[in-house]
Amino acid sequence: ELCVGCGICIKKCPFEALDIIQLPEELDTPVHRYGPNAFVLYGLPQPVAGKVTGVLGPNGIGKSTAVKILSGQVKPNLGIFEREVPWEEILKYYAGTELLDYLQQVAKKTIRASIKPQYIDFIPKVFKGKVGDLLKANDERKQLDHLIRELALDTILDKDLSTLSGGELQRVALTVALSKEADFYFLDEVTPFLDIYQRMIAAKLIRELAESHPVILVEHDIAILDMVAETVHIAYGKPAAFGIITRPKGVRIGVNQYLEGFVAEENVRIRDYPVVFETRGHESDVEREILMEIPAMTKTFPGFTLKVTGGEVRRGEVLGIVGANGIGKSTFAKLLAGVETPDDGKKFDTVTVSYKPQYVTATTTDTVEFLLRQATRRFDSSYYQHEILEPLGLMPLLQSEVNHLSGGELQRVAIALCLSRDADLYILDEPSAHLDVEQRLVTTKVIKRAAEDKGAGIMVIDHDMYTIDMISERLLVFDGVPGANGLATGPFEMKEGMNTFLGLLGITFRRDKTGRPRINKPGSYLDREQKAAGEYYYYN
Ligand code: ADP
Ligand code: ADP
Ligand code: MG
Repeated sequence: ELCVGCGICIKKCPFEALDIIQLPEELDTPVHRYGPNAFVLYGLPQPVAGKVTGVLGPNGIGKSTAVKILSGQVKPNLGIFEREVPWEEILKYYAGTELLDYLQQVAKKTIRASIKPQYIDFIPKVFKGKVGDLLKANDERKQLDHLIRELALDTILDKDLSTLSGGELQRVALTVALSKEADFYFLDEVTPFLDIYQRMIAAKLIRELAESHPVILVEHDIAILDMVAETVHIAYGKPAAFGIITRPKGVRIGVNQYLEGFVAEENVRIRDYPVVFETRGHESDVEREILMEIPAMTKTFPGFTLKVTGGEVRRGEVLGIVGANGIGKSTFAKLLAGVETPDDGKKFDTVTVSYKPQYVTATTTDTVEFLLRQATRRFDSSYYQHEILEPLGLMPLLQSEVNHLSGGELQRVAIALCLSRDADLYILDEPSAHLDVEQRLVTTKVIKRAAEDKGAGIMVIDHDMYTIDMISERLLVFDGVPGANGLATGPFEMKEGMNTFLGLLGITFRRDKTGRPRINKPGSYLDREQKAAGEYYYYN
């Protein structure tokens, strides 16, 4: 006998994992269940013409399933799998709801969807040839010139798809999705590997498309989601077991409920702690010893020069590193790691460095456990289990072969690997990529605790401003011209660092009533006022 709550468990209802006070109405009937003991989805996001509708929630909660239903790839079965459920029955269930019209078109098979998938690394395997050819072949809306200009793709049109960096591939994938003529656009994470400036451009292009077409956007960079979407559906539940997609909420309210961990209308607690932002530049009150001196140095490649002004790194601190793509951040990391030699020929070798690269790929068939055991002698300790394996959600993955992991799983393994090695300095390049919001929060805690426990210095390069805000004690700021020259300054205290970095970009954040930073509309009253006052981030 299956449980009446979730319909998937026999004895212990997984709903107990959540503090559900009142069962939401939409839980009467599931939208779809894959099989007797398989994943079950409740609720669907609502595509609305003229709007960007956001979906906010963890990986594995049914977002792709929902999209397959909305695009006609999967016919919903209302949780019934013993027989084929006819469309009349499905439509009858949706009678009187906002989704009826839309699903009627799905039933008639007249919906054409354009989809930007979450993981883009398959693209060069499926499409061979040049960027320009792929883009031209998909130019149905005749917007290609505009998209190429805005996303600065002109210099890579002649490149072979197989040679692109992650950030280039992301912009190509987005361009393809936005170029197609469709009734419904679904974009599954657009920000990984893009810098904040490119994220803002992507947001602008998505809004332009949404003026005339329904767009659904799944995004874990909340500052960007908040800026681009008008409404959001919160997705919650138990990954891989069941997912519930709420009715739409205004974006500010929806994001705040999500961060608070309490979904008010549904009366559900989805997290037992709220996410709180610092409203002042947090000056650390901890006395820290100096770990190392970053020397002043330069590194010249043909066509690119990096200049580092130098500074000190303290034991136990997390230094955030911000700056555009192509401005020398990875080169800086390689100089510190002694992988690259500065122009003066003096290789940096005073500290040992453990480095997580920005693009993590895996071809090995070794298991996760095998790899981690090679990196640390403490694998079996309860410390390792409680501080690394459990919070990063690696316990269920230990026996998986590394080459079979999804992008988000691989990211968490790479973070664990980096932190497992013995070193004085840890450098993590874009740890937020492909992690959902929950995982970003947990990873932030894991990294901060590792810095304290090891008495090491940790540098985190990232473009998600909420992650940078939460993880950093001080900031290193990269200025310059991407692909031509870079200047690394700092470390600064947070307030000065954020003002310096956002000042370069011309982006200001205001605070809402809960203290959450929100990106100001360029040219708005607050944007102008804050720029005049030189207050880009910590402002209320
Ligand atoms: P998300 O997009 O939120 O990450 P998905 O919709 O891809 O989540 O998947 C939700 C759950 O449904 C996952 O546990 C996944 O393994 C499961 N699932 C997806 N497709 C199928 C299928 N065809 N048969 C059985 N289970 C599936
Ligand atoms: P970021 O990490 O900030 O995106 P990188 O440090 O990777 O930037 O690259 C900065 C610039 O240096 C880019 O223009 C890149 O092409 C160039 N560059 C990086 N490594 C090399 C190298 N080994 N040889 C030549 N040019 C390089
Ligand atoms: Mg880099």
